[in-house]
Amino acid sequence: MEVAVIWDDRFGEISFSHPMIRDVAKARIRKFYELVKGEDYVILVRPELAPREALTMIHTREYLEKLERASQEPHIGFLDSGDTVHYPGMMEDILLVVGASLTAVKLSKFFDRIYIPLGGFHHAFPDRAMGFCPVNDIAIAVKLLEEKGRVAIIDVDAHHGNGLQHLFYDRPVLKVNVFAYDGKFFPGTGHYSERGVGEGKGLNFNVTLPLGSGDDAFQEALKVLDVVYDFKPDYLVVLAGVDGHKDDGLKSLNLTSNSYNLIGYKVSRLAKELGAKVVSYGGGGYGEYSAYCMLEFVRGLKGIRERTEPETEDKEKREYVRSIVSYLLSEGLPSSLK
Ligand SMILES: [Zn+2]
Repeated sequence: MEVAVIWDDRFGEISFSHPMIRDVAKARIRKFYELVKGEDYVILVRPELAPREALTMIHTREYLEKLERASQEPHIGFLDSGDTVHYPGMMEDILLVVGASLTAVKLSKFFDRIYIPLGGFHHAFPDRAMGFCPVNDIAIAVKLLEEKGRVAIIDVDAHHGNGLQHLFYDRPVLKVNVFAYDGKFFPGTGHYSERGVGEGKGLNFNVTLPLGSGDDAFQEALKVLDVVYDFKPDYLVVLAGVDGHKDDGLKSLNLTSNSYNLIGYKVSRLAKELGAKVVSYGGGGYGEYSAYCMLEFVRGLKGIRERTEPETEDKEKREYVRSIVSYLLSEGLPSSLK
């Protein structure tokens, strides 16, 4: 089975991150392309340029006008209090990034596994940028897929997908988040007791990993994916941010590339058993090893299970994660969905 990877050479020049890490963020995308283009099951597909109207599915008119003005300014600056940059002509890049999501949704008719290396801006809110995310591209894909069938979001990243959780907190979309959490680490949100409201009641699952968690805790965390199986989605929208790698510049988790291969592999197995389509994203990653972790995820998505680094562990942290997952699984899905 092929994996469609959405790619445009321009992706290697785009980053909305803080100026101190923009170069490393761009370099990992270029490096990923060099690695993935040699994989014989990969089909590269060019993204379309999104129409501006696509952004109004998620964002407010006032915020989009602010983005347009910022894009026309002749210098670099910040859209928020000091994380997410704007630069001359950034709107064209935003439309290309969002276009990748539109292309992925269309491609899901023909491909079972799709990966967008540059995307998954899960911190953006309807009216503001946050955490290197000017717009919420992944939310646009979820909205479009919601019209076609049942959607489950699996958001695995060092950081809680706060914008994405906010946007679908009251929607009948399953949301599984796995991220580093101590109440202070960015963005500081995502307590495991947040379970959703209204039509989304009981559909929000936050697995909070202690900072410094290793591969063993991550493996424990992924047991929560049983709820995805029970939910029987038609589409799996997956964010596989690789910024929890032990050598990542943002220092949060102590994972190796094995964990990223494992999540790709587990998603692949789930999709196969459910007959579901996968639209997945590269998310965060700010280290020299990031591109290899992204490749390991894609190889997992193909169904290749492998270990390329010695695994890390911390038994105490694993036990803590085990207790969180056991609480979440005991809650399970709302009885109306079982
Ligand atoms: Zn992140």
